[in-house]
Amino acid sequence: MRETNPNSWEARADAHSFYGFTDLPTIADRGATIVTSGHGPYITDVHGRDYLDANSGLWNMVLGFDNKELAEAAKAQYDTLPGYHAFFGRMSDQAVMLSEKLIEVSPFSDGKVFYTNSGSEANDTLVKMLWFLWGAEGQPQRRKIITRKNAYHGVTAVSASMTGKPYNSVFGLPMDGFLHLTCPHYWREGKDGESEAEFTARMGQELEDMIAREGADTIAAFVAEPVMGAGGVIPPSEGYFQTIQPILQKHGIPLISDEVICGFGRTGSDWGCQSYGFMPDAIISSKVLTAGLFPMGAVILGPELSDRLTRASEAIEEFPHGFTASGHPVGCAIALKAIEMVMSDEIKGNIARLIPQFEAGMARLAEKKNIGEWRGRGLMGALEAVQDKATKTPFPGNLSVSERIANACTDQGLICRPLGQSIVLAPPFILTDEQLAEMFDKLEAALDKVF
Ligand code: PLP
Repeated sequence: MRETNPNSWEARADAHSFYGFTDLPTIADRGATIVTSGHGPYITDVHGRDYLDANSGLWNMVLGFDNKELAEAAKAQYDTLPGYHAFFGRMSDQAVMLSEKLIEVSPFSDGKVFYTNSGSEANDTLVKMLWFLWGAEGQPQRRKIITRKNAYHGVTAVSASMTGKPYNSVFGLPMDGFLHLTCPHYWREGKDGESEAEFTARMGQELEDMIAREGADTIAAFVAEPVMGAGGVIPPSEGYFQTIQPILQKHGIPLISDEVICGFGRTGSDWGCQSYGFMPDAIISSKVLTAGLFPMGAVILGPELSDRLTRASEAIEEFPHGFTASGHPVGCAIALKAIEMVMSDEIKGNIARLIPQFEAGMARLAEKKNIGEWRGRGLMGALEAVQDKATKTPFPGNLSVSERIANACTDQGLICRPLGQSIVLAPPFILTDEQLAEMFDKLEAALDKVF
């Protein structure tokens, strides 16, 4: 139960901090968790309580909360060139080196990188790039963006319009021209008697129909997360991208992979698109890019889009877009170190070692009577709570059951993310076997308390 002292941290947070993406009944009941420090995969609150963060912060703190190497990279850069932009013919040496590195580790043979401060801004930037590009190439009517229901691409007006969450209607979004296909979640969206292959074919047909209805020459791009993250960790149905990509290619529609969550190892490959065997035209990156130590995003353009955008910019002598902190040298220095670390044999080896244990832990908990399915890929997974396992009937209310599970987890000293009717886990890449076992034991105790 929550602190009643008006001078408590919880009361002070209520007084002057506006809560975003927060279940307000939970706050009223329990107060916010105010975090003061972290060590390894744990955070510590103002009361000295430790929590194992099974969500790596917000999917990003994959190298832990007190990583000395990253902090030293930041400190060294703060001591040398603590800030700068990437415009007017100037940029930091760190930005030059990071762009080289990102193209080197990307699936692309060549390309160029544009920096933002967040994943949302990277998606906004991408859309503006495409609008600019198609306009410059004599097709200014190609402005529509296709995404999927339940997708998450951010919160700015454009990226929220790409996002396929019903809550955006409270803002009067999506804006016109943002189209959403069915979420490719076979377990929930498949029809009675429909095989997974038939479901995937139906998803492809739905895309074909949408393109025919709207007109291929009005569509700027198709943007997808390899595994939907904030939609509740939803891997695509079998063969989804192999079905979608040829349709897009036939109509000259770029395929963009939003890898803000999936990039840099989360799905067990360097990039989510590699886990699912498709080659995008551009990648959206953020989060693990700086292992959570600096707000930064990037649009990584593959060779074709990069050449086309360069030509379009040269034609008007400028690409008129960017943020004050684009290519911030401290962010770039941290990103260079973070990439070196997440792509090291040590971290990749640990991810590969943890994945089978993670899958086994999820499968064990999925046997509980009120868990309808577990799903996931690599080190991201979700347990879907259902009132009735056989009929897949959800619990009444939208957030209540997963909120109750997440709160029970908090009581156990575990941070888990409630998303819709599911509980999501995306642990840090540095977890030990003991910490992984602790995560599942605590989650099991929480589930047993709620069900
Ligand atoms: N794209 C995806 C796939 C995301 O998961 C997120 C954030 O969770 C974003 C974009 C937006 O990133 P940011 O919160 O940094 O704006």
